[in-house]
Amino acid sequence: MTQHTTAFTNLGLSAPVLAAVTGAGYDTPTPIQAKAIPAVLSGRDVVGLAQTGSGKTAAFVLPLIDQLLAEKKQAPGKTARALILAPTRELAAQIAESVNTYAAGSNLTCTVIFGGVKPGPQIRAMARGVDILVATPGRLLDHASTGALRLDHTRRVILDEADQMLDLGFMPAIRKILKQLGSPRQTVMFSATMPAQIRKLADEFLKNPITIAATPPSRPVERIAQAVLYVNAADKPDTLVDLMSKEVGRKVIVFTRTKRGADRVAKRLAQYGHGVNAIHGNKSQGQRERALAAFKEGKAPVLVATDIAARGIDVVGIDLVVNYELPNVSESYVHRIGRTARAGADGRAVALCAPDERKLLKDIVKLTGIEPKSLNDAPPMPKGDAAKPAGAGKPKRRRNRRGGGGQSGQRQRRAA
Ligand code: AMP
Repeated sequence: MTQHTTAFTNLGLSAPVLAAVTGAGYDTPTPIQAKAIPAVLSGRDVVGLAQTGSGKTAAFVLPLIDQLLAEKKQAPGKTARALILAPTRELAAQIAESVNTYAAGSNLTCTVIFGGVKPGPQIRAMARGVDILVATPGRLLDHASTGALRLDHTRRVILDEADQMLDLGFMPAIRKILKQLGSPRQTVMFSATMPAQIRKLADEFLKNPITIAATPPSRPVERIAQAVLYVNAADKPDTLVDLMSKEVGRKVIVFTRTKRGADRVAKRLAQYGHGVNAIHGNKSQGQRERALAAFKEGKAPVLVATDIAARGIDVVGIDLVVNYELPNVSESYVHRIGRTARAGADGRAVALCAPDERKLLKDIVKLTGIEPKSLNDAPPMPKGDAAKPAGAGKPKRRRNRRGGGGQSGQRQRRAA
């Protein structure tokens, strides 16, 4: 990577924050940190294009802590001096964890608010006011509407993974939140991609922002060795078992398109002796946390996840990302494989591509500019199997369950 040898000490951070950086064990800033930290410290609005794994959390949390310490203010009851919005509870929890790490030596307070858990403790935590509030949009608005918290004293706001918030349908909630915030305020937005609607949001709510990008958007980290295995949909379960038999003891995330699919895959891998858990939107917060902890500690080194549940998973040492099914949205592929090769490590990604997913793979290659290496012995591409994109998704389920008797199943059998 073309990174100049910028040191953390050259970025304008104060001594206590630099001590926290040293405490976290970081030597040099990542490219996004080198650019974002001075930009945020300047007080201007900032748009940052950065993928997950780029070190973006510290890129906005470190300067924020610095600013809040310098102001020496206190938050009145039920208010927050700064707000960090995240699309999922996992990401919100991870960000709060980072805040607590970097703010450990200070007396700054941090609270995290997300749905799926009882509101009572969150209301009590807000009662005295906090310095940094990390929240998902829906539950935050719930609390704002009941009067459990107020946003009019919040003068610093960070939107993390804005494109994901858009995908999850949070744009109306975000607009509502931004309108309730105090002014003048500093607004910082991070996103892995910059679709038109996100740009519009930035134009509307950010004033003359500094735009920074560490790596070209939508480009997966070059260190990831990407591969693809062309396989019929009906053969995916066996192919996965085969693949995973060579990965025993390694940390692997397997992505599926649906919650039910995640459960099915996890069950099958468990039958073959893998320590495995599934996480998705139907799991309780407790289940998700336990699964994540077991994954982190290596007790259950295989995690089967849907896209949404996997947001914010920041686990060091993930060896392999398996795309059991290709995502309908190419950007999701970038997010998925970004789970490996984090913080300087190399990583691998394998996609299982059925004939009706060829179009999705093509789109991914177009977006990333990188052709995954084929792991098939022979070229598997007889003509005519470039079926409709699997994006149509839903209607196919029943046919597949009957053993691939539908249109795509017939094509696959012929192809095989
Ligand atoms: P993020 O992109 O914020 O999710 O961060 C990805 C990972 O990189 C996290 O595990 C961080 O702890 C780690 N990290 C962040 N900044 C640095 C740094 N300057 N040096 C080494 N690791 C870092």
